[in-house]
Amino acid sequence: MARGSPELIDVIFDLFDAKGDSAYFGEPVSQLEHALQVAHLAEQAGSPDSLVVAGLLHDVGHLVHGEDEEVADRGLDARHEDAGASWLVPHFPAEVVRPIQLHVVAKRYLCAVEPSYHDALSAASRQSLKLQGGAMTPAEAARFEADPFHEAAVRLRRWDDQAKVPGLAVPPLAHYRGRIVAALAGRPQRG
Ligand code: FE
Repeated sequence: MARGSPELIDVIFDLFDAKGDSAYFGEPVSQLEHALQVAHLAEQAGSPDSLVVAGLLHDVGHLVHGEDEEVADRGLDARHEDAGASWLVPHFPAEVVRPIQLHVVAKRYLCAVEPSYHDALSAASRQSLKLQGGAMTPAEAARFEADPFHEAAVRLRRWDDQAKVPGLAVPPLAHYRGRIVAALAGRPQRG
């Protein structure tokens, strides 16, 4: 697949088609419902195409890897944020890839700086936090804040936490086709 090729869109749509029905790790929504709810929250917040697309694709690592729902129960951390980022990085700009890569550590960050954040996490999310290393230390939090994409990652994280509403009516995947095309076109030229 050539960099930025239009077929990538079809690959993405096919992935959601084939695997989007799978459950979202101990939550009452499917992977596709969850992705669409995050994208919708990003859109409602007036985010640029890149962040809406990051919302839609933030868990693509689960779809490309296909590990099952019991992964957290078995005590494994599948590092889906890295799997997703490496799958996306040949095609999308940093504005899409970096918030996705940082959305798990953003949870560790928020647990460090907002005590109420941890208490509000779902049981499944609290369980995975332990596997992800728990709350950040102050030094880790300071390093995170120095990343130019940390604010986008925190925004994505908060939508991720909210996007677990069973049966919520939101726009379908096709609604985001134009934004994906725009995000692909935004890839900075190299070499
Ligand atoms: Fe998620």
